[in-house]
Amino acid sequence: MKKLLIITSGGDSPGMNAAIRAVLRAALSFGWQVYGCQDGYGGLINGSIVRMHSKDVANCVQRGGTILRTKRFPEFLKPGVRDQALAYLRAQKIDALVILGGDGSFSGARLLAQAGGPKIVGIPCTIDNDIIGTEYTLGFDTACNTALIAIDKIRDTAFSLNRHFLVEVMGRSSGFLAVDVGMAGGAELIVIPELPISAADIVHTISNRTRKKMASIIVVAEAECPGRSFEIAKAIESLSGIAYKVCVLGHIQRGGSPTVLDRKLATLMGYAALQCLESGDSQKMMAHVKGEVVPVPLPDPALGTRTFDFKTQLHINHLVCTH
Ligand code: ADP
Repeated sequence: MKKLLIITSGGDSPGMNAAIRAVLRAALSFGWQVYGCQDGYGGLINGSIVRMHSKDVANCVQRGGTILRTKRFPEFLKPGVRDQALAYLRAQKIDALVILGGDGSFSGARLLAQAGGPKIVGIPCTIDNDIIGTEYTLGFDTACNTALIAIDKIRDTAFSLNRHFLVEVMGRSSGFLAVDVGMAGGAELIVIPELPISAADIVHTISNRTRKKMASIIVVAEAECPGRSFEIAKAIESLSGIAYKVCVLGHIQRGGSPTVLDRKLATLMGYAALQCLESGDSQKMMAHVKGEVVPVPLPDPALGTRTFDFKTQLHINHLVCTH
């Protein structure tokens, strides 16, 4: 019987559990033995792998986070530590790995496969939706909806008290989350890492409007500096005299019960991962491309992350009404 090991690595995202469940169910249906690795790649070094049966994924499809837990394990960047992991995988006779994570986790996976490790398939999981090769990563839709619920609540107070708000959402190097949430939340302006904009430009844009707004929302992606909205708010006030309250949404965006989209795509990607392994394929990522789940090569780390380049969407959001 072939042995499969499931690992969740890097940042958690809603939908990981639905994907673990789907991988396990598909694997059992194809006759594999399934194991789960606890605490990301760290589990390969301290031997934290456990046998999994269908009962182990009961009642987890609706839960955020990951039942296998995850971890940042920077030691895995060292070749010697990866060699230890490879020796452990050989000793355990693991034939294949399914890695649920982001581009960092996939870099580690590629290196394992290239060093003669087991077959490897990745399922893209990050709320940032910024992995090259796929138009969707698990967790994105849930994070958008979590942030949107928060913005709708902030709107209640903003419009009751005549206040302007900067709402900061996650997104270190990409603006996908900020754009979708900003557009759906009726943001006056969306500030993303791909199109940096100065406080003076923000003031220019908000002063250009024809209707004098008593309350409004600007959505800002955190970029490299979580909490940067406080500085931006100060700069806007000193240039324009308009006071902005700041609300940093932070880690609430990473948790919570996954949406229908995240659960459904997790289920399809989990099954596709096993189909891929059954056909003898390796070093593939289950991608969402033009509405279909398809295997594509694991992303090349040299290419970095996917960036938002749908400028038309921002243009549509930032239209200036003339009367
Ligand atoms: P994500 O997978 O969400 O992008 P990280 O970038 O933190 O998250 O990566 C998760 C883990 O993957 C790291 O803690 C490390 O164990 C492993 N990893 C990341 N980058 C590499 C790399 N270049 N080489 C080997 N392992 C890596």
